[in-house]
Amino acid sequence: MKVSISFLLLAVSIWIAATVVASFSERSFQLIDDGGVRSLYSDRGAGTALNWIDQKRQGFSCLFLQSSGVRFCGMNIQMGDGARNGKDFRAYTKLRLTVEYKGSAEKFRVSYRNVINDPSIPDTKFHQVEVPIRKGAYIYEIPLSKFEVAPWWIEMRQIKDPEMRLPTRDNVVHFGFDIETPLPVGQHYFDVLEYSAVAPFFTEDNLSWWIGGSIAYFIIVGLFYNFLRLRSQLKQRHEEMFGLLKKLEEVDSESAHFKKLSMYDPLTGLLNRRAALDVVSEFALRNSLAGTALVVMDIDHFKQVNDTYGHEVGDEVLKSVATLVQQIVREGDAAVRWGGEEIVVICPKTNADGAYRVAEKLRTQIKQLRFSNPELVITASFGVANIRQGESFSQALGRADEALYDAKKSGRDQICGHKS
Ligand code: GH3
Ligand code: MG
Ligand code: MG
Repeated sequence: MKVSISFLLLAVSIWIAATVVASFSERSFQLIDDGGVRSLYSDRGAGTALNWIDQKRQGFSCLFLQSSGVRFCGMNIQMGDGARNGKDFRAYTKLRLTVEYKGSAEKFRVSYRNVINDPSIPDTKFHQVEVPIRKGAYIYEIPLSKFEVAPWWIEMRQIKDPEMRLPTRDNVVHFGFDIETPLPVGQHYFDVLEYSAVAPFFTEDNLSWWIGGSIAYFIIVGLFYNFLRLRSQLKQRHEEMFGLLKKLEEVDSESAHFKKLSMYDPLTGLLNRRAALDVVSEFALRNSLAGTALVVMDIDHFKQVNDTYGHEVGDEVLKSVATLVQQIVREGDAAVRWGGEEIVVICPKTNADGAYRVAEKLRTQIKQLRFSNPELVITASFGVANIRQGESFSQALGRADEALYDAKKSGRDQICGHKS
């Protein structure tokens, strides 16, 4: 799979996973750690002894010597300034209390107070819920929906407005925690290990943040996806272009190979007649041919060689002669298989003497060539000519051919034309 698609799938999966995890998770507000000042309250008049049991002022102990009527003993946690400016708990759904209790009480009470926007009531609204006590350390999960406005408070403040009797959670200024009344006589020991308000991760106030964050996340993911896509497209184009170039190179070298094949004679490796004529006419376009020597050579009684020793030996002779010619001619000279066993050597900037010397070298060395059949000795005849001013290549070649004919006629194994 493409890198860009994998990246997109991964990014979307991460977002889905994060959203699923977040929607199942909750956030909590530690009332004791993050909250305000804590204090203890009791009815000391009845001989109650009330003490913090630890340095962190988290747990407390309460000693009752006698019980009669309304008695109280508990802990208060202040939110905000504790009077007019508290904290909004509407997004929260429950309170979590981890408490270890030692004593004989059956129930405790959890409460909170929030500010009322009604100047005629000079008090904060008291909400409460009673919770049965479990022995030992226990985690109490108390839904905030279970809280009611305390009936004693409605009575005391003579609340008539039914709206006002409904519980609310905005602007909470106190959380409380105390023991039922009337209080059982004896020692009550509370170790409050945790006291927090819990909200689901997604609430109205942070949902917009989540949506905004998600949009930003997907914009960045989109940008990066496009970057990866463009990069892979570029890479692909690059590879395509590279492939095309390579193919072009192959075609080039193939055509060069074929050109070479078409220019040279496969048996001897000498230039063929057509290629030689091309080279000469191209040369003639820019230069004068005058002063170029032509040596035409023909193996003597070659037909007989074929007939006596076979065609293969004939080929062997042709190859050896061609190799010898290539060794003897200078760089810049062209050796051409003109046809059959006739070879033409084109020697630029060479006079009649020079041409004769080339022919003579060839003539003497051809005789010394040895073949697979040791009896076989061959000779060759030569005609030489120098291209004259204003003369064409074929005219000069015609003269060289005539000279060759003369050489054949005069008994072979000789050179003619150099004296003319
Ligand atoms: P001359 O001395 O008069 O030149 O006699 P010749 O027998 O060489 O006569 P000619 O030049 O007319 O003979 C050409 C012979 O060369 C005919 C043919 O059998 C032979 N020949 C031409 N091309 C090839 C080739 O590629 N291989 C072989 N083995 N023989 C070839
Ligand atoms: Mg011949
Ligand atoms: Mg011939």
